[in-house]
Amino acid sequence: MEKQMRIRYAPSPTGQLHIGNARTALFDYLLAKHYKGVFVLRVEDTDVARNIKNADLDQINDLKWLGVEIDEGAFVGGPYGPYFQLERLEIYKKYVDILIKEKKAYHCFCTEEKLENDKQKQSKKGNMAFKYNRTCYKLTPAEIEKKLKLKTPYNVRFLVPENTTYKFKDLIRGDIEFKSLDIGDWIIQKTNKIPTYNFAVVIDDELMKITHVLRGEEHISNTPKQIMIFEAFNWKIPTFGHLTIIVKENRKKLSKRDNDYLQFISQYRELGYLPEAILNFLALLGWSPGNEKEIFSKDQLIKMIDEKKFSKSPSVFDIKKLQWINSKYIKEMNDIDYINFAKPFLEKYFNLDKKNKDWINCFLITYKKEILYADQLKTFAKPFFENTPSEKIDLSDINFHKELKEQLLMKISDCKNFSPDDLKSLIKEIGLELNIKGKELYMPIRIMCSGAQHGPELNNVIYLLGKNKVIENIRNFNYE
Ligand code: GLU
Repeated sequence: MEKQMRIRYAPSPTGQLHIGNARTALFDYLLAKHYKGVFVLRVEDTDVARNIKNADLDQINDLKWLGVEIDEGAFVGGPYGPYFQLERLEIYKKYVDILIKEKKAYHCFCTEEKLENDKQKQSKKGNMAFKYNRTCYKLTPAEIEKKLKLKTPYNVRFLVPENTTYKFKDLIRGDIEFKSLDIGDWIIQKTNKIPTYNFAVVIDDELMKITHVLRGEEHISNTPKQIMIFEAFNWKIPTFGHLTIIVKENRKKLSKRDNDYLQFISQYRELGYLPEAILNFLALLGWSPGNEKEIFSKDQLIKMIDEKKFSKSPSVFDIKKLQWINSKYIKEMNDIDYINFAKPFLEKYFNLDKKNKDWINCFLITYKKEILYADQLKTFAKPFFENTPSEKIDLSDINFHKELKEQLLMKISDCKNFSPDDLKSLIKEIGLELNIKGKELYMPIRIMCSGAQHGPELNNVIYLLGKNKVIENIRNFNYE
């Protein structure tokens, strides 16, 4: 039997959960669930200067909100912990020492200044990619001993094998190869004794028994370095897969610094996007079922996900599509869940003390079909809370029955209950009495009552505006 799949997501706690990272985590999770494997989460916090307090927990909570649950790892525990790299420094040290002992790695005492100097010299010769010139590789054991005794700061460098080609079969892109000639002896442990990412990641993937590494395209060039370490220890290399980059509509890479785009999951939550909709949208960023269908639940995705259908070309971040998907999920919510979800967005902007429960529920339900995301309720609610100037309407094409204004005013003034149902009957009655129907009936009533030409259910809008306001609007209305 094949080994159980163990696939990991390895975030760095340097900021909030970004859509690109959320997509990686989602695909890792979906594959793990599809193949009945284990989804492991490891926190890669060795870049101490960039760490942000609690960013890891925030990211994991955002994942949980999306429905991406961790089986094993940071904050949940498991048999191969600790799952925070800073708690594993002793472990890395042990493996660094093994490589030094086996002469597969060596101490490098070169100072920053010297390295910078060498870099300049190389670039003057036209070598843009800096390769360490192995000065310290030539040191004798006695020289090394002496420097160590003097506590000279050092990096540990990996001795990159000569004339080797590193090949791997990428789950998404097929065969990829790199030549060792292009890679200089790179640092595996820095002067502060903290290992570098490319080293620590391998030790962890091996000890955590990871079988699959699926991550973003930006890590392709790191893969040969990681394979070198696997080979140096004679360890089995996991299966690698690299998801394509996410681009904007103009096909330019979506950069984290692009301020025109909201890029963090929490920002979408705050705007009233539903987790199921975001999850659905993320799944389509780099995977397609092979047909036109676009709406998928998490369970359907788990069933259908297929690494052979991962996209090989960049995925376009189309905000209109996300909005469309979100509005579809909102429309499909049952009314109770929807009200619970949507009400806070109304409370956030308006004082609801003077509005009763029926009014609030009616407002929310009336605009359920109109919103792309819940924060848009703010705009729709404005006319009910503030005196907003009515829109300019070209009345020349609209047929106003000469008795309509009078009838409407009379019936509305007489309407006792002023409930949406009563108002519905009232409009019907007017239609029958004046013998007008459809657009000819509704459009003029809507314009007179609300000052707008379009909107959701007319009887609801009239109810929501309230009797006094509607009477005032009708009175103030002029055909001219
Ligand atoms: N910590 C890396 C990052 O956040 C992940 C690297 C990996 O998946 O190997 O980009």
